[in-house]
Amino acid sequence: MRNPKTLLSAVVILIFASPTFGTSSADGAKSVLLLIPRHAGPVVENIGQVFTRQIQQRCDAKIVMSGNVPLRVELALEKGIPAEGYRIEDRQGGGVRIAGNGERGLLYGVGKFLRNSRYDQGWFTPGAWRGTSAPKCPVRAIYMATHFMNYYEAAPIEELNHYIEDLGLWGFNTILIHFPTWQFNGLADPAARKWLDRFKTVLTRAHKSGLQVGLLQVPGEGYQNAPREFLATKVPGNRRGNFGVNLCVSKPEVCAHLLAMHDAILDQFKNVGLDYFCFWPYDEGGCACKDCWPWGARGLLRISKELVPHIRARFPACKTILSTWCFENENEANPDGEWVGLAKAMVQDKGWADYLMADGHDDYFPKYVLETGVPGELGLLNFPEISMFGMSPWGGYGANPAPAHFEKLWARIKHKASGGAPYSEGVFEDINKAIYAQFYWNPDCRAEDTVKEYAAFEFSPDSAGDLLEVIRIFESNHSRGRIGQSALRAFELASKTDAALTSQARTSWRWRIVHLRALIDKELFERKGRLEGGTLKASFEELTRIYHAESAHSMPIKPPQLK
Ligand SMILES: [Zn+2]
Repeated sequence: MRNPKTLLSAVVILIFASPTFGTSSADGAKSVLLLIPRHAGPVVENIGQVFTRQIQQRCDAKIVMSGNVPLRVELALEKGIPAEGYRIEDRQGGGVRIAGNGERGLLYGVGKFLRNSRYDQGWFTPGAWRGTSAPKCPVRAIYMATHFMNYYEAAPIEELNHYIEDLGLWGFNTILIHFPTWQFNGLADPAARKWLDRFKTVLTRAHKSGLQVGLLQVPGEGYQNAPREFLATKVPGNRRGNFGVNLCVSKPEVCAHLLAMHDAILDQFKNVGLDYFCFWPYDEGGCACKDCWPWGARGLLRISKELVPHIRARFPACKTILSTWCFENENEANPDGEWVGLAKAMVQDKGWADYLMADGHDDYFPKYVLETGVPGELGLLNFPEISMFGMSPWGGYGANPAPAHFEKLWARIKHKASGGAPYSEGVFEDINKAIYAQFYWNPDCRAEDTVKEYAAFEFSPDSAGDLLEVIRIFESNHSRGRIGQSALRAFELASKTDAALTSQARTSWRWRIVHLRALIDKELFERKGRLEGGTLKASFEELTRIYHAESAHSMPIKPPQLK
């Protein structure tokens, strides 16, 4: 059930005004005067820097902070706008005023303004959209998997920080990551230190961008060197993910060991501050001994509840999320009684959890939630898999947009969800992230409208119609074994677009992964699926560079390597 307060505040008013600036150089601006509130805090200052970076990386126009410049854009904070919402209006005295309810609302208002503006080679034309908008779902997170030397682990840190800011512009409000204990021999392990140095910096910067941050942890999983006598009993069925350090939480000495481990990890994030903590059951996790099983109704709940006071002592406002990932084996209804057991446990005591997260691999969604409801009537979050579905290596062929697929999945729960956290392995699913950010903002929005808005913003408003057709073809050719003749049409449209883009858009990584996907699909169609030839080799090498995947785990992340 969505919080009724959120429903009441879910006001979305859309007012379309006629453009105040046209699309010729005569109407566009070569400079923009940015006005930010006096005594603006570091977050508003940072939003001003995001605004500047975004415009200057897309066209030759310059952003200035003073001077007699005709086009003025004013950023403001204003009470009275719904939570995390914004209003964009004509500014008294000329130009545009973007007002946010709080800093995050301002960030989203800047995102909306930037997306409907126009970037020609030599000038900037401000967006004509006017109105007020606010999000319906309170939890609009992205889960960044930080492992296998994927993009999040390997990209230069400033590039990653900018990427997170860019996600904020689309409406996300939370970054979730996982400290992978199974990769390390304790906190003193140099690899753990390196990981912590990087991601504490990244999360601190995310806070400075106005976003919230959180950890998603497997409460029963130890370090690589965990005592062997502490190991869990292997869980039955296909719950995937086991790096061999799942521990049995029913033994008191193991519980003490795990709580001490989590205390030390939480202390590492004390200066960062945590806004969310998510308990993860399987794929990592689980113990099937007689005292822990069924894990999702007993062992998991016991260790998670024990951990809550340790979390709240350090981060009093931190919200907790209980994930139910893999409670059921796919296509089997609740064989182990985990959902029923969880529901009973939540009737007795649900004060320790704020949200319940449910989802499944591929097209699966837990039947219990669809047919019976959410245990404890907690706010429901989804965990859509936007990265790995139907393609291997993940992202290895460029962009993998699937608007129709995700609209179908979202339709099952959109009227009861409080938001969610898509699972991300990198940047190749950037379009899918935008689609979910907009679903969480307005659950009834259409995925293809987001694709058009994305294409107009990132590439060109003139090409958005063609690119929607390209994305539809990509989705129809998603399965690598069934690339059809339409791949030729997608390549033709992508080539036409390529020739029409500004130099900034044409060389941006977001365009390159779309263009390379069109090229790779055309090559694979013509070569009847054979991975061979110089064009494919060069394409895969360019993708590897874009993803910073040179040292990535080869199976999941790295594009095919051709000799
Ligand atoms: Zn056990």
